[in-house]
Amino acid sequence: MESDANVTRKTDLGWKHGYLADPKNKNDVTCKYCGKVAKGGINRLKQHLAGGYRNITECKKCPEHVREEIIEFMAQKKNARETIDMTHEHDMTDFDDEDEMLMGTEPTGKRKQNSTPTSNAKRAKQVGPMDAFFKSPSQSTAKQKTLNESYKKEQRKKACAEFSKWMYDAGIAFNALNYPSFKVAIDCITRAGIGMKPPSAYEARVPFLKQEVENTNEKMRNHRQEWLKTGCSVMSDGWTDRCGRTIINFLVNCSKGSMFLESIDASSYSKTGDKLFMLLSKVVEQVGESNVVQVISDNGSNFVAAGALLMAKYKHLYWTHSHH
Ligand SMILES: [Zn+2]
Repeated sequence: MESDANVTRKTDLGWKHGYLADPKNKNDVTCKYCGKVAKGGINRLKQHLAGGYRNITECKKCPEHVREEIIEFMAQKKNARETIDMTHEHDMTDFDDEDEMLMGTEPTGKRKQNSTPTSNAKRAKQVGPMDAFFKSPSQSTAKQKTLNESYKKEQRKKACAEFSKWMYDAGIAFNALNYPSFKVAIDCITRAGIGMKPPSAYEARVPFLKQEVENTNEKMRNHRQEWLKTGCSVMSDGWTDRCGRTIINFLVNCSKGSMFLESIDASSYSKTGDKLFMLLSKVVEQVGESNVVQVISDNGSNFVAAGALLMAKYKHLYWTHSHH
């Protein structure tokens, strides 16, 4: 099936998943899974397996792990190529199958041109990281722009579909997408580029968590300094959880913004004003009684009673209720 002439080509991972039906025609690679003939060499076959390319339909029969392996392989090759471009080593002989960087190009004519590996024409086609900043006359046409746009649109669709799939898999709340931190994360991933190694469970659980706790502590230190300078308000928000417990969240507000302080199971406190007063004064002490200008809570009778006791104890402090 495969001739010796293909020995060098067979180092490409794609050859594990496709073969030449006619050894003399290196352009037509048959997919092992669905039998589709990729007319555009091993590169086109890989696009068929990876999916999401406008040149060729996605393979419906290739196993998911193969698809992932191919996507990873293509990303690594692209990375390697970009690294080489960056270091100005333009000997691209290792990538002789990889000359279709632009998915929007029509391959047939160019492919024939390139079948004799005189590499000047080929080099002209290679796209490096800096190329985005320089328009080449042949690429600056409106048509190319439209192709790029529709290609980008397709890529976005694919990325979003895969991302959503992961969310359903992992049971991530849809609301998580509304977090501003999510947009920041996506921007950073985009900047890191193709082939970025995702964070491992260990990394998220240990080093990055440690780092984030440190960041949060740093922010809290800033807030605490602000409390000292300009004073602050303690806000309490009570709610009942699914088990019927009364939970009170405490937040501290100052000119730098609001900070979550703690969440207390107040089931045993909240019934009487006396006990609630004890809880509130504990929080006030924690924030620093001289810093607290105001305590805000809801206007349940227990809070009203606790508020009166607070104002009696701390002369400079005002208790205010929020309307529910
Ligand atoms: Zn296939």
